[in-house]
This record gives sequence, C-alpha cells and structure tokens, in this order.
Amino acid sequence: MKYPKYLSSLLTIVAAISLTFTACDNDDENTFAAPKINLTEVGIDNSFQCSPGHDLHLEADIVAEGSIKRIDIEIHQEEEGSFEIEKSYTEGKYIGVRNTEFHEHIDIPQDAPLGSYYLHFIVTDQKGQQTTAECELEMVEDNGEEANDHH
Ligand SMILES: [Zn+2]
Repeated sequence: MKYPKYLSSLLTIVAAISLTFTACDNDDENTFAAPKINLTEVGIDNSFQCSPGHDLHLEADIVAEGSIKRIDIEIHQEEEGSFEIEKSYTEGKYIGVRNTEFHEHIDIPQDAPLGSYYLHFIVTDQKGQQTTAECELEMVEDNGEEANDHH
C-alpha cells in the first residue's frame, strides 16, 4: 500500500505518540514491586508469645515501592475457637512512605483464650498490591514478669 508522503509521516508521528503513552502506562502499572514485609520481632525477644490483658510487642521492616496505603494486623485463634484481634493503621507515620520500621504494641484483651493463634500482617500499597506475612503465636498465661515489658 502506498500513502501520500504527508500521510505516512503523520502515521509515524501518531505511532510514536501512542508508543510513548504505552510506555508511560507500563511504568505506572509495573514499576512498583509488591510490598515486602520482614517480621523482625514478634513478642519481646521474638518469643512468639503474648498474654491476655497485656500488649504484644511487634516489629517489622516494610519496603513498599508503591508507598504504604494501609497496614492491617489480624490475630486469630488457630483451631480452638474464633477469637480475633484486629488492628488497622490507615494514617500516621507508616502511611504514604516507601519503607518504614514498624514498631507497635497491640493490646490483647483480658478475655483472649489461651492457646495457639495465627498472626497476619498485611500491607497494602497505593496501587492496591497486597502482601501478607504470617506467623504462629502462643497465648500464654501472664507470668507476672512486668520487667519484660518495654516501651
Ligand atoms: Zn516494643
């Protein structure tokens, strides 16, 4: 097929422009890796234990190229029951940043049954990409050692 010269250069320009736009779109869609979570400490000294009526010391390194939109923490019983503790962070120092050192103390209700639990640590970035880190957690009787608590 043979186009008049002006038309073929017009087509070239159109093609170049749409290619540029496509490249931009790709950048937006694919450049950001899903969030990465490293649970560095669950319970004091990584004990993976907590007690009813106390708080759970929790530390994690988070890297989210797409910026953190929210952090959700779920702690629920493994099999014995359906007791669940939920905590969400949707504003504050962890939100809108690309990497952070998470350090919070999650309140454990007085009536939390003892036994095995799962902890889910969920990070969602501004693109809606979600990563979950999980570990097991033991709900144990308070041994009265307040000295172990820190702030
Ligand atoms: Zn702490």
